[in-house]
Amino acid sequence: MSGSPGELSAVFVSDVHLCPSRMEMAQGFLEFLENLSGEVQSLYILGDLFEYWAGDDDLGDPFNARIAGALRAVSDQGAAVYLLHGNRDFLLGPNFARAAGCVLLPDPTVIRMQGVATLLTHGDTLCTEDADYQAFRVTVRQPAWRQTFLARPLAERKAEIEALRRRSETEKSRKPQQIMDVYPAAVEAALRQHGCTRIIHGHTHRPARHAHNVDGRSCERWVLPDWYRSGGFLRCGQGGCEAVGIKPG
Ligand code: MN
Repeated sequence: MSGSPGELSAVFVSDVHLCPSRMEMAQGFLEFLENLSGEVQSLYILGDLFEYWAGDDDLGDPFNARIAGALRAVSDQGAAVYLLHGNRDFLLGPNFARAAGCVLLPDPTVIRMQGVATLLTHGDTLCTEDADYQAFRVTVRQPAWRQTFLARPLAERKAEIEALRRRSETEKSRKPQQIMDVYPAAVEAALRQHGCTRIIHGHTHRPARHAHNVDGRSCERWVLPDWYRSGGFLRCGQGGCEAVGIKPG
């Protein structure tokens, strides 16, 4: 992305957690996508677009197909749409990306905006204090695990994910709050490793702008909001970045 004058902005969202049982927010997201047309150069979705994703063969579901179509309309109108995996939708694959006109990016990804090296990540890898989750993540991100899981019937996969989610909700309620947040030293190590002075992530559902000092360089960390009750996004352009809230309806 160049820093030329008159450049259109980039928009970042995360943790939309789309599911048919929360149609109000799904509708809010669809309206958000419609309003983007012509105004942005790039849309970055930083993970957990869906409440969960059981595999690209679930594109046959009308709700999922509708979301893919709405994303496709954004890229058809000339904006680039980029997608990172979240911890809930890491099984989004090439067929979804094709249907939705998105480019799947690795986590993390570095982009330059107005000369600022910016690190994009879902954010779950920064929660390094949650050892149980990190071990689980290593397992399920292995290609062999993925292949075996995706070979099972769709209905069986969905049932297993639902069961896993119920267990995870119980476990989460028992974990201390700070374990569920990013670990500042992990944030600073990531900024240092990738030579970035800005990081944008979601996952923690604690929207904020934080300042970090990494080896004497002042860095900023934007945490994107979730879309459970209301939504929001970050818009970055020539003047820097600003958080924008969205109320449904
Ligand atoms: Mn997440």
